[in-house]
Amino acid sequence: MSLREQLCEYGRRAAELGLVIGTSGNLSARDGDRIAVTPSGVALDRLSPEMCPVVDLDGHLLEGDLQPSSETPMHLAVYQATGTQAVVHTHSVFGTVVATTMTELPPVHYNALLLGGVIKVATYATYGTPELAANVRAALEGKQAALMANHGGVTIGETLEQAFEATRLLEWLCEVYVRGLGVGRPTILTDEQLGAVLERALNPPRFPRRPS
Ligand code: 13P
Ligand code: ZN
Repeated sequence: MSLREQLCEYGRRAAELGLVIGTSGNLSARDGDRIAVTPSGVALDRLSPEMCPVVDLDGHLLEGDLQPSSETPMHLAVYQATGTQAVVHTHSVFGTVVATTMTELPPVHYNALLLGGVIKVATYATYGTPELAANVRAALEGKQAALMANHGGVTIGETLEQAFEATRLLEWLCEVYVRGLGVGRPTILTDEQLGAVLERALNPPRFPRRPS
């Protein structure tokens, strides 16, 4: 599948899963100096490959008739800072709840480690601005995900599939935490507990074969 076809596929899935509504959210994927990005103001479940513009790392339009997403400066800033290959931005409900009420998402489940542990909420700035791009870049440092204050979430990956799965995981972690707050006081995993998870993941015990 070409990158533009992948944008259509994951755009459709993002809408289907309710991670975006209307024309909110945007996706991009990189191939060398070329970045395919969703067009601005088009619902992500209504895309066709030729509708998706291709830009270079400086934001020059290389292909396509439609304007690239208004968050293209944020996508480009992330590519420049991380060397990642794909970026997904959504306005998912629980991610946005956390992003409007907290300054970070604490690790209450060990799967948070898949996104880098504590997830930071990037300082608020108007959508599409270089300020928002800089704030997101800072919050993403060393992580696969960040939240954007009063706005939504962003994830990165080596492929669009990875970035999309990171978005699903981010939303799940936010939902667990928010629902947990409704029930009681969620226990936050300590550095020691998270360190033990990493240790365990790096050194899985081998199950011995039954002697014959
Ligand atoms: P675009 O339609 O320009 O991609 O904007 C959607 C969005 O989520 C802005 O933050
Ligand atoms: Zn947005």
